[in-house]
Amino acid sequence: MNKWGYADHNGPEVWHELFPLANGDRQSPIDIITKAASYDPSLPPFNVDYDPSSAKLIMNSGHTFSVEFDDGEDKSVVRGGPLHGSYRLRQFHFHWGPCDDYGAEHKVDGRDYPAELHIVHWNSEKYSNFVEAAQKPDGLAVLGIFLKIGEHNKNLERVTNALDNINFKLSRFRSLFSTTETDEIEPCCMKNNHRPIQPLKGRTVRSSFS
Ligand SMILES: [Zn+2]
Repeated sequence: MNKWGYADHNGPEVWHELFPLANGDRQSPIDIITKAASYDPSLPPFNVDYDPSSAKLIMNSGHTFSVEFDDGEDKSVVRGGPLHGSYRLRQFHFHWGPCDDYGAEHKVDGRDYPAELHIVHWNSEKYSNFVEAAQKPDGLAVLGIFLKIGEHNKNLERVTNALDNINFKLSRFRSLFSTTETDEIEPCCMKNNHRPIQPLKGRTVRSSFS
């Protein structure tokens, strides 16, 4: 049973007790230092090919909400970038904070963003399902997209409309209730679901532009 979360007793500082890999060498998020990134002209652009009809359901995991996709076949895939072959869309979810100043997981040159969209794909050319792929070093591909506070977003509204007919506002994300698997802990508002910055441990960030 996964009882990880973002509170003091089950938050990022103790994830490694349940999941030793959380202390591994390839952890996210990171602070992307643009000057230290290495330009790799061989990186092609990402190519996303999504079929909206493969969207299946919206789930509240207690940590975030996610939109889940039918990943029984290659209906929605991403290719290109550093990827070998195509990766199948599984779900997308968001990370956000208690206020508009921070909440994204990654940073760029120390700068915070209010929220981050993660679009999760798995390597369907090499592996037979998401769970198997999630255990492999080349099993998952997650596209991270920083969100800025801006004008009303009609596309995102289609998701937030499904969440109890609410309008697009980060404050509305924060009004979602977090759930726990036991009754010991009072449910509280979901407003901090981002992991702190992790060490690079010798990795180099590659960039497709200079
Ligand atoms: Zn995420």
